[in-house]
Amino acid sequence: MPSSAQRKRVLSGMRSTGKLHLGNYVGALDNWVHMQDEHECYFCVADWHALTTDYADTSRVKENSLEVLLDWLAAGLDPERSTLFIQSHVPEHAELHLLFSMITPLGWLERVPTYKEQQENITGKDLSTYGFLGYPVLMSSDILIYKADFVPVGEDQSAHVELTREIARRFNLFYCQRGRAVFPEPKTVLTPAPKLPGTDGRKMSKSYGNTILLTDPEPVVRRKLKTMMTDPARIRRSDPGNPDLCPVGDLHKIFSSPETLAKVDAGCRSAGIGCIECKGWAADALVSILNPMQERRKKYEENPRLAWDILEAGSARARKVARATMGEVREAMGMSLDYEAPESVQAAE
Ligand code: SF4
Repeated sequence: MPSSAQRKRVLSGMRSTGKLHLGNYVGALDNWVHMQDEHECYFCVADWHALTTDYADTSRVKENSLEVLLDWLAAGLDPERSTLFIQSHVPEHAELHLLFSMITPLGWLERVPTYKEQQENITGKDLSTYGFLGYPVLMSSDILIYKADFVPVGEDQSAHVELTREIARRFNLFYCQRGRAVFPEPKTVLTPAPKLPGTDGRKMSKSYGNTILLTDPEPVVRRKLKTMMTDPARIRRSDPGNPDLCPVGDLHKIFSSPETLAKVDAGCRSAGIGCIECKGWAADALVSILNPMQERRKKYEENPRLAWDILEAGSARARKVARATMGEVREAMGMSLDYEAPESVQAAE
């Protein structure tokens, strides 16, 4: 393991959207768990980000933050090795967001691909708010306040890291402190994202209602798998199928052993196995991954105070770093909180 001085700093986060699903696990969480040994990791429960689309009803924000943390702990994030914190408990993020908002041209935000996409796709909510347009600026402050070296993200988020780099460059250009740039430019680490379909064959997503949750008990997993879409060309048991065109086949590719994968491939293509049997094997693989997570989760479910304490301790640790950065930021902008007579007054004294 690299020494603490050699370890590069990583920052990533998830919005407080409640219980996580297999898509969150495969697309981010599993990767974070592996990063903990090699890197100094900061993982943020982004409750303010949840407000950018769900601002009208905040009654479940705290509960949703806790559910996200429970799933993180269940999946293997370790508060001894990583700093797990909640965004709203580190208010320096908001201060930096405000200062960045002064220097970020509107055009940069309007061209972020997810801005238009989400406005078109998320219906029933008024997203013509400043908070929604400005959320990539908040994300930039989340990253830069820790001077992160790396930001692990999926392909769809890489534009946000690029914007973060542009904001860092612009800030450094305006407020270079004694020839030294305040912010490093973080690098994107693209998380390998295997295709993970939901039960209806579309991308697994809460908004499609097609998820398998990390907390789903075995009977629920088996029931969801039973109704899962298959290769549409395989209508009868005697029809050969193609696992490359089947969402259940995609699940096998991610979660099943090479032996099971070989059985599925040969059995499906020759019609030697039925879809019910094949789905049973997929359910076995999922249950064997979810069971140990659900066991780990129990301890915190039974005593949520334990989990909340982890968030509070992590937030206090994160805040120390954030405060130090804000000290440098204010200094660079000539807005230090310490009183210093302006130069004109000093000359007169
Ligand atoms: S046998 Fe399996 S991989 Fe083939 S179509 Fe049925 S569920 Fe899909």
